[in-house]
Amino acid sequence: MTSPLLSNAALAERDLRHLWHPCTQMHDHQTVPMLPIVRGEGAWLIDADGRRYLDGISSWWTNIFGHANPRIAAALKTQLDTLEHVIFAGFTHEPAIELAEELVRITPPGLDKVFLADNGSAAIEVALKMSFHYWLNLGHGEKTRFIALSGSYHGETLGALSVSDVALYRKTYAPLLLTPFLAPSPDAYEGEPGESAEQTAERRLSELRNLLEQHAHETCAVIVEPLVQCAGGMRMYHPRYLSGLRSLCDEFHVHFIADEIAVGFGRTGPLFACEQASVTPDFMCLSKGLTGGFLPLSAVLTHNAVYEAFYAEYSAGKAFLHSHSYTGNPLACRAALATLQIFRDEPVLARNRDLAAHLAQRLAPLRDHPHVADVRQTGMIAAVELVRDKLTRAPFPADERRGLRVYLHGLEHGALLRPLGNVVYFMPPYVVTESEIDFLVDVATAGIEKAVR
Ligand SMILES: *Cc1c(COP(=O)(O)O)cnc(C)c1O
Repeated sequence: MTSPLLSNAALAERDLRHLWHPCTQMHDHQTVPMLPIVRGEGAWLIDADGRRYLDGISSWWTNIFGHANPRIAAALKTQLDTLEHVIFAGFTHEPAIELAEELVRITPPGLDKVFLADNGSAAIEVALKMSFHYWLNLGHGEKTRFIALSGSYHGETLGALSVSDVALYRKTYAPLLLTPFLAPSPDAYEGEPGESAEQTAERRLSELRNLLEQHAHETCAVIVEPLVQCAGGMRMYHPRYLSGLRSLCDEFHVHFIADEIAVGFGRTGPLFACEQASVTPDFMCLSKGLTGGFLPLSAVLTHNAVYEAFYAEYSAGKAFLHSHSYTGNPLACRAALATLQIFRDEPVLARNRDLAAHLAQRLAPLRDHPHVADVRQTGMIAAVELVRDKLTRAPFPADERRGLRVYLHGLEHGALLRPLGNVVYFMPPYVVTESEIDFLVDVATAGIEKAVR
């Protein structure tokens, strides 16, 4: 079926002549295949040689309803013939208006204003700047610092990277970054022996309280990934931390920024992870699943009180200054509306509950594996932590790249798994079937077997 000009090998060779890929040591591609994908079909990707891969990670967590979703595609086709883009300062359009209405409707109560940007990192930049500027407008220009959790990831532009604590991304660029105060993560995996996840959360809250007692006067906001620190290794924590964080932020007059870029839109169970603690953050950042993986778009939601702190005569100089050329792009807004329509029309969250239960059941046997320290899950995110020594939980040295072996095994056997270091994780699109989950777990298990040898 393939012409030699469109084979994997031919396209990979052309790719490597001019392209430079993200999160990649390009030298790896001397041995790791560069895979040209020509088509997507639901949970599957199809390469130029006609081979199929089950997308076990929703293509970096974006394609929540799989690939080439016909409903989103149809909405986009109509929008394409109507309005592709328009400047978003002084002008507006129905897709953005409707999207803002819908986001306000579905997010926790009290988030009434929507600021649009075009990727996750940009949403974080917006939230950080807006929080700082809010305090400035209220006469608190001394608040210039942020508190982030150890092991957090909020993106890789300089501001977003500043509040991230994953060494792989941060270390090299550290001299360029703001320095946040780091609060210890409530990550249950790092809990004391015998401690429950909730007790770990309580202990970490008291440490956060200490930090706030010292630094709240100079702090704008605490930023967290609610419930799951994703890029930091799918580290999970108890919702108690979020309700405690809400109280502490109120008590110490600092903002609570919830980065739901990865965990939003049903990934942890309910539509938003914050719902599991019944909290409304001061800023909620959304992206990734927002457009079902069709187009880049992000949104920052906040409450009216924040908006009002910027609302004044022009001469007061209080306006929020942040813009992107493609802010509010109508095509992206339309894709987001179609994605949210699927949540309204189909029992997505109920089906995810069944899929998540099935995934849990299929992963359970791995708990007994001599090189598995932890199998953890929050909704449609599951992770298997590989270690050298199960008893001491001593990790495999990073340079052994065990995860890469799982990745390569996956590709050989028709599954896209992309471990984070020694953490093999599953974040499938919600259109996956139980038998496809079985396939994914079987391939991963065999890959793990090979990788730990
Ligand atoms: C991916 C991610 C980001 C950054 O989003 P980009 O669109 O990749 O810039 C920020 N925060 C979290 C939690 C993420 O997972």
